[in-house]
Amino acid sequence: MSEKRGKLFVISGPSGAGKGTICKGLLRDSDPSKLALSVSMTTRKPRTGEVDGVNYFFKTKEEFMQEVERGGLLEYAAVYENYYGTPKAYVEEKLDAGTDVILEIDIQGAMNVKKSRPESVFIFILPPSMDVLRERLTGRGTETPEAVELRLSKTRSEVAHIKDYDYYVVNDDLERAIADTEAIFNAEHRKVKDGVSEILKNYGA
Ligand code: 5GP
Repeated sequence: MSEKRGKLFVISGPSGAGKGTICKGLLRDSDPSKLALSVSMTTRKPRTGEVDGVNYFFKTKEEFMQEVERGGLLEYAAVYENYYGTPKAYVEEKLDAGTDVILEIDIQGAMNVKKSRPESVFIFILPPSMDVLRERLTGRGTETPEAVELRLSKTRSEVAHIKDYDYYVVNDDLERAIADTEAIFNAEHRKVKDGVSEILKNYGA
């Protein structure tokens, strides 16, 4: 076990805000011994190109529920018609080794983590603006105007939960959003209360 435990960073935000891309950027810029991304378990079917154990651990509903009963999940939630959850053992192992862990999870899951592990850091990723989000959704050309409006109203209700988070990042420019998120991670590692005894010892103070 490392002397200093890693920190748990919980990242949420509306779909289309670019959480996944930001997380990839954070991992790209970081040493695997310093930062790890938790791979969730889900009952959703894999999408084209998704790999079991990489994007998600794909499970049947029975397997998922067994895991819940076993107490193997740090949190879980039903999102749309599927279950999603965070395997506890991996997160604990990394935190014990002094590695920070990112959970990219929905708002309900994040609020469950806030109850069980209030010391975690909660970050909300925002799309640049509702107008840009509307343009993005419309521009894809895959969604009907009604579907676009539905997504936008869902986004509005999700953004209302931002008050339960510690930090926010606006994803208007990807590299800047990654840098902003890294700045939050760094600041969280410069809290006097977390390092005070070591600092006093090192400086003989
Ligand atoms: P998707 O099916 O598009 O990959 O993800 C749908 C939603 O589930 C996203 O908001 C994602 O953040 C959330 N999600 C993914 N993994 C987990 C998890 O382990 N726990 C919870 N609570 N939500 C998750």
